Amino acid sequence: MTIRIPVVEKILSANDRLAAENRAALDAAGVFSLNFMASPGAGKTSLIEQTVHALAGKLRIAVVDGDIATSLDADRAAAAGASQAVQINTGGDCHLDAVMLHEALPKVNLAGADLLIVENVGNLVCPASFALGTHKSVLIASIPEGDDKPYKYPSMYHGVEALVVNKIDLLPYVPFRMDFFRQGVEALNPGVITFPLSCRTGEGIEPWLNWVIQQVNLKRNL
Ligand code: MG
Ligand code: ZN
Repeated sequence: MTIRIPVVEKILSANDRLAAENRAALDAAGVFSLNFMASPGAGKTSLIEQTVHALAGKLRIAVVDGDIATSLDADRAAAAGASQAVQINTGGDCHLDAVMLHEALPKVNLAGADLLIVENVGNLVCPASFALGTHKSVLIASIPEGDDKPYKYPSMYHGVEALVVNKIDLLPYVPFRMDFFRQGVEALNPGVITFPLSCRTGEGIEPWLNWVIQQVNLKRNL
C-alpha cells in the first residue's frame, strides 16, 4: 500500500496539468462548461435533454457524453437539439478524466458554442477525484436513491458548485426525508445552491435554467 500513494499522486498531477489545458482552451473560446456527475439513472441525460430543449434558442449548447459503452446518450442530446454532441467511450473506466476530455475537445467546434455540458460516467465515487478543466461541477441526486447519499458519498457532495435533486414528483411514493438529506449536504457543502426539480414533469426546472443562463452570462462579461 505504501508504494501506491506516489503512483496515485503522479496520475492525479498529470490529470491536473491536462485539466488546466482544457480550461485554457475553453476560456480562450469563451465557452462556459459544466461537469454533470451522478449515480447511474439519477437523470444526467434527462437534465441535459430538458436544458438543451428549453435553451436551444438562447444558447448554442455542445454536449460531451461519457459512458463505458454506446452512443445512446449523445444521440439523446443531439435529438433534444444540442448543436453538437460528442460521445466518449471509456472502454471500461468508471469515470472521465482530463485526458479523455482533452481528446474529445478537438471534435467540438468551441467557436460555435456558448455552453459545454460534459456528462460524466454514472458513478458517485471516483469522478469526484478527477478534475476535467470544466468551470463548475453539478451533482444530480434523485429521490429514489434515498436520503442517505450525502452521508455515504461525502467527497462527491463536498466538491460540487451546484446540486440538482431530480425526480421530486416521486416524493409522495418513496421514503425520503428532505430535512435529513439537506442536513447531510449542509455539513459537507454549506450553502451550495440547490435545485429540487423533476425532469419528467418540468416542476422546478425554471430556476435551474435561469442559473445556467446566468453562469454563461457571467462568463461572457469577464
Ligand atoms: Mg446518461
Ligand atoms: Zn472510476
